[in-house]
Amino acid sequence: MAPELVQLRLVTLYLTERCNSRCVSCDYWRHGRQDMALATVQQLLPGLKALGVEQVLLSGGEPLLHPHWVEMATLLRAQGLKLWLLTAGLALAKQLDDVARHVEQVTVSLDGATAASYARIRGLDAFEVVCAGVRAAVRAGLPVTLRVTVQRGNVAELPALVRLAHGLGVNGISFLAADVAHDEAFGRQAPAPDGVALRPEDLPLLAASLDAIEQTHADDLAGGFIAESPAKLRRIEAHARARLGLGPLTAPRCNAPAHSAVIEADGRLRPCFFIGGTQRLGAGGLEAALNAPAERRLRAAIAAGAQAACERCVCAKWFAPA
Ligand code: SF4
Ligand code: SF4
Repeated sequence: MAPELVQLRLVTLYLTERCNSRCVSCDYWRHGRQDMALATVQQLLPGLKALGVEQVLLSGGEPLLHPHWVEMATLLRAQGLKLWLLTAGLALAKQLDDVARHVEQVTVSLDGATAASYARIRGLDAFEVVCAGVRAAVRAGLPVTLRVTVQRGNVAELPALVRLAHGLGVNGISFLAADVAHDEAFGRQAPAPDGVALRPEDLPLLAASLDAIEQTHADDLAGGFIAESPAKLRRIEAHARARLGLGPLTAPRCNAPAHSAVIEADGRLRPCFFIGGTQRLGAGGLEAALNAPAERRLRAAIAAGAQAACERCVCAKWFAPA
């Protein structure tokens, strides 16, 4: 059994399964109904404090769609927690006052460098709306970063996305491979559609994009404007090759389940984005749920490399010692 968790660095809350975006890789917008109850956040508060949680990531679905997100943010901030908002950005300009008042850091998912590629990937003609929201958040003094999921529709645009990030005035950009391997992730009720995963003919485009980033954005890589190291960016390529049967699948370095937790809109716990947990938040609060024997056995199995999900993972996280 894994040791009891007595300290956590990061907790992710899926405030809602609903979303106002229409991404091809995700089904929350089709099937998502559940909002997190205010009572769930209240139930979480003692555990967040006892576990010394530093930061809460507000995610979903689109967290800004939750009708009570401001009340939830107020409760969390009253505990001294720092809030990080992960948003599709469609409602950012409209809700900017509340966002600026309650959130320390914003990450906007922006998968296309042009209106056409944005619409292709995210299913909406809303590129300019999102860019306007990002600019407004930057003007308001918020630290904003962009997050790009690399997929068929943008594989040739990665350097253009770095240029876009500079043009919007954000603090940085990060890239991760779009997940197509976990059928149950992103609210999916069926495997990810065909147009997301890279095909063999996309591999040279990806390699050219990564070459161009290394050649023309060396300062951005060295200075951290691009969050990933060159080696980590090349892992996106290795992952795509492995998915196509052209190389080995290897589990990335990850200790996310030992330092963070994900809580779904209905109160279910997950040790990370891609592995379902065994517990639901109950009367015993967060510590009791995290340290239930079944949850500890699950963390032990993950740490021992016994979870196939890890080999296919696109979103591993390594928490360095505090
Ligand atoms: S990937 Fe994110 S932004 Fe896109 S539909 Fe799903 S929850 Fe919404
Ligand atoms: S490698 Fe991925 S699937 Fe495995 S524990 Fe880490 S985040 Fe979860």
